[in-house]
Amino acid sequence: MSVLRAVALAYHGVDDVGGTVPVADDPHRLLTSPEHLRGHVRLLRRLGYRFVPAEAVLGGERPAERVAVLSFDDGFANWVTHALPVLEQERAVASFYVCPGWWEDQHPLVAGPAGRVMAAADVRRLLDAGMGLGSHAWDHPDLRGLDDAELARQLTDSRAAVAEVTGAPCRTVAYPYGLSDPRVQAAAAAAGYELGWGWQPGPWAVFDAPRLPAPPRHGARRLALKLLGVRRFWAP
Ligand SMILES: [Zn+2]
Repeated sequence: MSVLRAVALAYHGVDDVGGTVPVADDPHRLLTSPEHLRGHVRLLRRLGYRFVPAEAVLGGERPAERVAVLSFDDGFANWVTHALPVLEQERAVASFYVCPGWWEDQHPLVAGPAGRVMAAADVRRLLDAGMGLGSHAWDHPDLRGLDDAELARQLTDSRAAVAEVTGAPCRTVAYPYGLSDPRVQAAAAAAGYELGWGWQPGPWAVFDAPRLPAPPRHGARRLALKLLGVRRFWAP
């Protein structure tokens, strides 16, 4: 099959939805099962993709080989318990996007234990395993609706909080809901970010970088179909 040179997949939580997690706890389909995640990783590897952190694609240059960025949003505690084991077993790196204002809270759209948000200290488990960390704004507003001061605060405070945990500059942001506009993108650049992720496929733009939502309830076959359906993603 003809596949993209570079692809960024977007996930939220990872837990055994339909198994130990009742489907009713996840009405918005934000959870992917560990086995489906494993299927996606193995498919991408079979297609020749190498897994890279978000920092590897900052410039948007067409990479010399197939690269895939696995990204996860919202700070789910199940990243450590359910996503990390799969990623480590499959030797894949990923980039995780957190809202520092949500630490140890309950995700507003996922009920029960599967909706728990991790504590700041748990992020160390991801970092120690070689995973990347980025900002998903302070507490997940639609950034487009904020006044300039609050927009700057959301981007700057979250960036500082991530840098405090990692001990390194926070270079990338995933906009909440994937939504931005030129003012939000300019504010992200002014806050010091070098890349901003959206949530839809499209042409490459460094501050509205395209991602492909991974199929949350399906494995490799559905992901393959989604990849085939993406016509515009990275500048050719
Ligand atoms: Zn989010």
